[in-house]
Amino acid sequence: VRECPVKAIKIINGQAEVLSERCIGCGNCVNVCSQDAKAFVKTTEEVKFILEQSSQVIACVAPSFPAEFKELDNPEQFVGMIKELGFDKVVEVSFGADMVADAYKNLIASKKMKGMISSDCPAIVYYVEHYHPDLVNHLAPIVSPMVATKRILHELHGSDISIVFIGPCVAKKAESKEIDEAITFMELREMFEANNITKDSVKAEPFDPPHAGKGSVFPVSRGLLHTIGENDDIAESDIIVTEGHKNFKEVIDEYEQGDLHATHLELLCCEGCIMGPGMTNSEGRYKKRSRISKYVQDKMDCLNFDQWEQQKVALEGLDLSQSFEATDRRLADHAEEEINEVLAKMGKIEESDHLNCGACGYDTCREHSIAIIDGLAEEEMCLPHSIEKLHQSIEKLNSSNELLASTKQALQQSEKLASMGQLSAGIAHELNNPLGVITMYSNILRDELADDDPMREDLDLIVEQTERCKGIVSGLLNFARKNKVRHQDGNIENFCKHSLDSVVLPDDVEIKIEFESSMVNTTASFDQDQFMQVLTNLEKNAVEAMPNGGTLTLSLSDTIEYVHIHVSDTGTGITKENMDKIFTPFFTTKGIGKGTGLGLPLIYGIVKMHRGKINVDSNTDPNAGPVGTTFKITLPRNPLEV
Ligand code: ADP
Ligand code: MG
Repeated sequence: VRECPVKAIKIINGQAEVLSERCIGCGNCVNVCSQDAKAFVKTTEEVKFILEQSSQVIACVAPSFPAEFKELDNPEQFVGMIKELGFDKVVEVSFGADMVADAYKNLIASKKMKGMISSDCPAIVYYVEHYHPDLVNHLAPIVSPMVATKRILHELHGSDISIVFIGPCVAKKAESKEIDEAITFMELREMFEANNITKDSVKAEPFDPPHAGKGSVFPVSRGLLHTIGENDDIAESDIIVTEGHKNFKEVIDEYEQGDLHATHLELLCCEGCIMGPGMTNSEGRYKKRSRISKYVQDKMDCLNFDQWEQQKVALEGLDLSQSFEATDRRLADHAEEEINEVLAKMGKIEESDHLNCGACGYDTCREHSIAIIDGLAEEEMCLPHSIEKLHQSIEKLNSSNELLASTKQALQQSEKLASMGQLSAGIAHELNNPLGVITMYSNILRDELADDDPMREDLDLIVEQTERCKGIVSGLLNFARKNKVRHQDGNIENFCKHSLDSVVLPDDVEIKIEFESSMVNTTASFDQDQFMQVLTNLEKNAVEAMPNGGTLTLSLSDTIEYVHIHVSDTGTGITKENMDKIFTPFFTTKGIGKGTGLGLPLIYGIVKMHRGKINVDSNTDPNAGPVGTTFKITLPRNPLEV
């Protein structure tokens, strides 16, 4: 996009497409595409057809050929090679250039045009016609050397001839209907190769007349001026000479704005025709230029001036005029709001957000936005915007990675719990019946005993311990039961307060309730029975961790999506090595008969079934800060939507 002077490249799904209606045929995209994804239409088949069908075909060779065919020992070999392809005559376009130069000289001398843009470069002509239609009248109404040559040849040989132009330029292909076909040097080489024609396989022959003079310097910058003997010395003339696809635009833009005091703009779209896209020789511009210079010097040395002059005199009345047509291809203007909207989408809100880095190919962020509106560009072409988006994706990816890791851990934990649960459920179920029998019979026996029977004490112990066993078994069954979560909307504040009622609180344990005053919403959806077990178990653990008293703090806060419940104590804390084990069934640090190690696994299961999270912070080292434990539960306000 950056390389296209008229932004005739449309980007769709990251692919560049040339819009022929906007294209000026400069061929720069073909030159710069390192992946060879852009090519121009080749017309060698059409030339073959002309060679087969026409009675007389004349090849008109552009004056830049010495810059392309550097392998030749002399120009005559080149003529021989072209004739070998079947051409009847091979002439140099340079003579046409000589005639065109005279026409320019006369036009300048006549002072008819106040400001004039040379019209020998077809890409420049298209540019003016399409993008500066108001300047069409400033184009010099003189044909290009190629068309001049055609008219000369028709004058000399009649109209029953076919003309094929061969040169470095792609834009020539569409320049004029007067020419039968135009091919590039690249295509000519392909034809040579296909026919096994080399400089050594042919008979060298001179160019056919008319023979050219200085017009051969046309393809280098200032070529036209050199030919007509003008100079663009800044102190002596107001001629502006420039070339290259950035410069010519700048000059024409400024010229149209009326900022230039120039009588003549001599412009070439490429950096001289010697750098045209139809060349295959990748030598530098100055090397090519010196090849042209050498060729012209050799030629001028042996030019028969009288004959050359006579030729020109003979053709003096030949019409070398042409007219141009304004074909406006400029894009429509857009409303400021529309442009700003697109800019905002790319994060460009303030003026300082407009980095105008040019990475998209457009000079400014604004131009890029306009191109987006016109369907020529995509947002993704903005590099800073894409980098920002990439950063966001990386962040998202990181957080989903974290989520994945914690889910994996949770999955492992629940698998462990599931198999433990199955086993415990089996055992618990089997134990339930015999325990029932033991309880029943020991009760019967106790009832049958006299009040003062010494065995009564033993039986009391049996009954008590059996009851304990039943407690453990029911805990196991509780843990193993795959209870379905029955979601119900409830006031979480009241619910948390209420949970403290079912816990036996010693006098030396102080209760603190820290509910955030600005809760978004006190309502959440959860299974009340199950969550009561969660809270009471946490509170019981907290109390048990504070045998010498302390503070149990219940805090509550929320966001739109989540409710956070924290149960903290100032108790013993959990050691680092126990941290990994506390959610494992039957892990307990409490003495026999005191703990079952089933509380936290049960809590874990319930929280997960609510699609929530449970984390623990704990400290056992008074030097590292206050000792105690905090269990943090994050519960989605509406687990069914998570
Ligand atoms: P139990 O309470 O029957 O021991 P839990 O599963 O509830 O079983 O707890 C497992 C273990 O986790 C406890 O034995 C204890 O070591 C540790 N623990 C749980 N809560 C706390 C807490 N608030 N403070 C210190 N340790 C705790
Ligand atoms: Mg417990």
